[in-house]
Amino acid sequence: MFDVAKNLHEVLDTLPDGVKLVAISKFHPKEYIEVAYREGQRIFGESHEQELAGKVQSLPQDIEWHFIGHLQTNKVKYIASYISMIEAVDTVKLLKEINKQAAKYNRVINVLLELHIAEEESKYGFTPNACREFLKSGEWRELKNVHISGLMMMASNVEDQEQIRKEMIFASNLFDELKASYFSDDPEFKERSWGMSHDYPIAVECHSTMVRVGTAIFGPRVY
Ligand SMILES: *Cc1c(COP(=O)(O)O)cnc(C)c1O
Repeated sequence: MFDVAKNLHEVLDTLPDGVKLVAISKFHPKEYIEVAYREGQRIFGESHEQELAGKVQSLPQDIEWHFIGHLQTNKVKYIASYISMIEAVDTVKLLKEINKQAAKYNRVINVLLELHIAEEESKYGFTPNACREFLKSGEWRELKNVHISGLMMMASNVEDQEQIRKEMIFASNLFDELKASYFSDDPEFKERSWGMSHDYPIAVECHSTMVRVGTAIFGPRVY
């Protein structure tokens, strides 16, 4: 087994106060999660609803699960009773569905709006202008069972550190703009989720509050 405990502490040691670690455990066995859990890690991220359902059943109840992948609207109902955060809300339709399903359990589900900033075509998310327009519409204020807690993004998957930095700074500036315009009275609009195994040190420099690190802790995924 990869030395999960050692890797976990190496990552944690580099994170300043105020930056949370979401340990991305997708495609890794529950034994790996148990190791990290014993070391004190409580927030884990998964991206497939069925895999998550299996893990939730057999792992401790006080784990906070984040859904980090692209979520289909017809899958929301399966996770709505327990998910602590849905990080990658990429359409208004999905947000409304989360609101509807959360209401059934009398819950308020924390969500992040996913930004599409990277140049790759394949990435999901709101463009910066779509995100501005949506918040300006005020529609979200009617959705009482979701709470928008911040923004999430994935930088381009490139070697060029300056490109990555540029995208993350852009996201951080957009966060500040939206915070000032729509959430100045909401201290819980505070999360900036960026940074993965290869770029989380840059993300920390670019005002991330939440890094999503998988490979650097658990090793390569076996698909
Ligand atoms: C898989 C995944 C991660 C973790 O990636 P690593 O390179 O293994 O750290 C982070 N964020 C999202 C959205 C992912 O899908």
